[in-house]
Amino acid sequence: MKPNEEKQSIVILGGGFAGMRAALDLAHYLASDEDFEIILVDRKDYQTYYSGLYEAATTEHALIDAKKVKRTVAIPLDEVFAKTKVKVFKAYIDSIDLDNGKIVTDSRILSFDYLVVAMGPGLEKFSFPLKSLEDAIMIRNRVEDIITKKDSATLVIGGGGFAGAEFAGELYNLIQKECHHHNKDAKNFKLLVVEGGTSYLPGLPENVSRMVGLRLQSLGIEARFSTLITEAGKDYIMLNKTERVDCDLLIWTGGVRAVKLPLINCTIDCDKKDRVLISDSLNLRKHERVFIAGDTGGFIDPLTKKAVAQTAQEAIHQGKLVAKNVYRMIKAKPLLPYHPGPTRFIIPVSGKHAILYTQYLVLGGFPGWVTRRGADLRYFLSILPIFKALKLWFFENNVFMKND
Ligand SMILES: Cc1cc2nc3c(=O)[nH]c(=O)nc-3n(C[C@H](O)[C@H](O)[C@H](O)COP(=O)(O)OP(=O)(O)OC[C@H]3O[C@@H](n4cnc5c(N)ncnc54)[C@H](O)[C@@H]3O)c2cc1C
Repeated sequence: MKPNEEKQSIVILGGGFAGMRAALDLAHYLASDEDFEIILVDRKDYQTYYSGLYEAATTEHALIDAKKVKRTVAIPLDEVFAKTKVKVFKAYIDSIDLDNGKIVTDSRILSFDYLVVAMGPGLEKFSFPLKSLEDAIMIRNRVEDIITKKDSATLVIGGGGFAGAEFAGELYNLIQKECHHHNKDAKNFKLLVVEGGTSYLPGLPENVSRMVGLRLQSLGIEARFSTLITEAGKDYIMLNKTERVDCDLLIWTGGVRAVKLPLINCTIDCDKKDRVLISDSLNLRKHERVFIAGDTGGFIDPLTKKAVAQTAQEAIHQGKLVAKNVYRMIKAKPLLPYHPGPTRFIIPVSGKHAILYTQYLVLGGFPGWVTRRGADLRYFLSILPIFKALKLWFFENNVFMKND
């Protein structure tokens, strides 16, 4: 079905960081243009605020129930788009037919005139990934279960990148609290991070990796570098195919990498690694009304020839450009090229402690943590009305500070 035969439709697949930004900006550009409608499709009716997932997965049961945890990391789409022309359609996207301009979902088929694909990186198949709110709640339940039933255990975090390092610090806090609550000795609950690279945060400057490593080491968190988890069983993992390690819980945080464009059922131009070839303006060469944004793209920076960081900031940056370019295409103006934004990271590492990294500044400890809280507020203000943004921010702070 075509949502409205009279109008041209811009369909945005995915209401994550990239898709939401693209939809909000397009709604702004086309606010008074009755010829266009904007439809955002997502399987969820909320955006997962990933940066809060580590905290969500490590909130203590006795203090915070699952409903409250959900409110901290699930931003309702209807609140974001309440006063805009964006129609939110909750459905699972089964396939994308570019040649015929159709999207097949589990409840209906949509037609599009312009398409933005912003469906994130796709899901990894692993025992306990941390990629969604459901994962966070499941991990939290599992950790409590282990501490209640056992006197000692080994919890392994697969991946010592951005996600693994932050999660290790938060998991440490949870173990301390749950052990205290259940009268267990926290020293008997070992945390091990397994990373394929030679240090934490491979790819970031050495001083940042060192700062993060020292902080986690001071908490007693063990790490194995240049090591791959080659097999995972019910109660063990194999390292580098040769070493067996007992493992009560394996949490997979790795795996953000360039992916094949999901669910497309026609031939499109790909490189040798099966990555979709995308123009400098973020649209497909053969289907120029189809734009790609966020982790789905797996972009390579034309200047550095390195993969562009798969972060929320970069996804937002791409969402903005895609919105501009769709609008420019409608107005028959030349498209703008994509330039990746500056590299900036804030890596929380347990408690009120975070490391801020920019090209010009590396800042550790409490000031880093304050900057992180500021970044959360800035993001909420960019998508929600001011009162709702402040409410969410205070609520998030109130819940997450209980972790510290
Ligand atoms: C645990 C975790 C923590 C992170 N922490 C940080 C951080 O602190 N800072 C930072 O900058 N980055 C962080 N990142 C990375 C950042 O979240 C991603 O780079 C960013 O979410 C990418 O945005 P996106 O819009 O491409 O995809 P997403 O935000 O993943 O959005 C994709 C959307 O598409 C929808 N979707 C996908 N497939 C389908 C389908 N078949 N049908 C319907 N809907 C579908 C999903 O429901 C989702 O809403 C983190 C990532 C993870 C997993």
